[in-house]
Amino acid sequence: MKKFLNSFKQIVGSQNMITDPFDLKPLNQDWQRFYQGKSELAVTPTSTKMVSEVLQFCNQNNIKVVPQGGNTSFVGGATPVQDELILSLKKMNNILEFDTTTSIVTAESGVILQSLNDYLQAYRYQMPWDLGARGSCQLGGNIATNAGGLNVVRNGPLRNYVMGLEVVLPNGKVLNLMNKNRKDNTGTDLKQLFIGSEGTLGIITQANVLCSPIPEQRQVFFLELNDFDEVIYLLRSAKQFEQLGAFELMEGRILKRCLPFNGQLKAPFEFKEDKYYVLIEICGQQIELEYYFERLLKHTEQIVFNQNESELQTMWRWRESVPENLHKMGHVLTYDLSIPPDKFEWFAEQVYYGRKGPYNAFYGHLGDGNIHYNIIFDSVEEMHKEQQRVEEKIITLTKNLYGSISAEHGVGQLKRHYMQVQKGKDTFKYMQTLKELFDPNNILNPEKLL
Ligand code: FAD
Repeated sequence: MKKFLNSFKQIVGSQNMITDPFDLKPLNQDWQRFYQGKSELAVTPTSTKMVSEVLQFCNQNNIKVVPQGGNTSFVGGATPVQDELILSLKKMNNILEFDTTTSIVTAESGVILQSLNDYLQAYRYQMPWDLGARGSCQLGGNIATNAGGLNVVRNGPLRNYVMGLEVVLPNGKVLNLMNKNRKDNTGTDLKQLFIGSEGTLGIITQANVLCSPIPEQRQVFFLELNDFDEVIYLLRSAKQFEQLGAFELMEGRILKRCLPFNGQLKAPFEFKEDKYYVLIEICGQQIELEYYFERLLKHTEQIVFNQNESELQTMWRWRESVPENLHKMGHVLTYDLSIPPDKFEWFAEQVYYGRKGPYNAFYGHLGDGNIHYNIIFDSVEEMHKEQQRVEEKIITLTKNLYGSISAEHGVGQLKRHYMQVQKGKDTFKYMQTLKELFDPNNILNPEKLL
């Protein structure tokens, strides 16, 4: 890479280059600290034109490139595998406009999700998706991973809300797919190819996103349930609530283990190992608290609801602190799967029969059939020893349930080897053909996804 430094200096300027190993360290490592790249250079372009010139140069000189947003990927998607050039979008963080007639926001891809929400608040709007990494993840990273999160049960997937995109292709060509029409039936919707493509087909530089009004009221209920059948019975009822905003499940064994890490955070219950806990959010213009309370009380007497905004935040914090706490407990293998909701418990019992073996627990977005299944090991060696066996078992179980090995986190480096099994030979081949069409020299995010 050293021999190209001067050329990159001419394209982006030295103020938009990172070469100091100390500053490169966090960019070379993923959030979970599973993957470590060896990149010697990161560039931080400030315009689409710069991104285009960087890619054109890289394509001509066969320099591999990793697009990087907030680097919060759970699958090593934004971390170099070798010494690829890191192309960070963090300086392309302008919010260009919010159109109050169409409710569409137009922004550069490096804007942090939380900043978009802060900006939209003045209009009483919000982004249609939300996730725990909102303080670090970026618009482009969210779109490139078709991020899921906490609102999918209400709003459906992210891809439904992206109206337009600007994408720089690996050869430097700028593809203008920006669009503010909600309806556009003029043939194949090319932008959909880039949503969820994990930076393997092009670099997203701008987007138009349809926003949602901020609900006037939000009410959170936290319930304790005795067994998994009760959870599923509750899910079936809650699915009929027109104002259902979220349906999140946590095993008691996980919440109990979170206690020491959450310090002064007030627990809604005294958590018990063998119980299940469900967080239900209801949101809308006007909420009939009594109606929902009575309906939910039919399922359990162990129920609390928030009396004010601060209690609402505290209850959500219990759910949102789970992924970060898990990483404080040991060495974690975490799996993000789509399977039928009523199979979550059965699934966990199959991986480690009767839940024996290392500490394992699940939580997740039960409302959309998305389980986060975790196994915690005391040592890295132990984890590596088990990884292959566990993974093969999980893939087989998921496949047999017609599920998905990645519900929302993407494939990245972590699940790449299972893609052929997941997709089947024909689909996988067409995906490869598409990659070759857009990126014949394979410079963009190599050794990821495919
Ligand atoms: P990065 O991690 O930087 O990149 C992700 C992928 O997108 C990489 O392949 C990268 O090359 C590519 N990419 C990034 N920017 C661009 C661009 N502009 N153009 C093209 N490609 C690009 N995910 C969920 O889906 N749901 C959750 O509920 C959720 N919760 C999380 C909670 C925590 C605490 C953390 C740490 C992560 C969570 N995630 C979740 C995972 C992660 O936050 C998402 O995948 C997120 O969308 C990644 O955004 P990012 O900007 O950090 O992208």
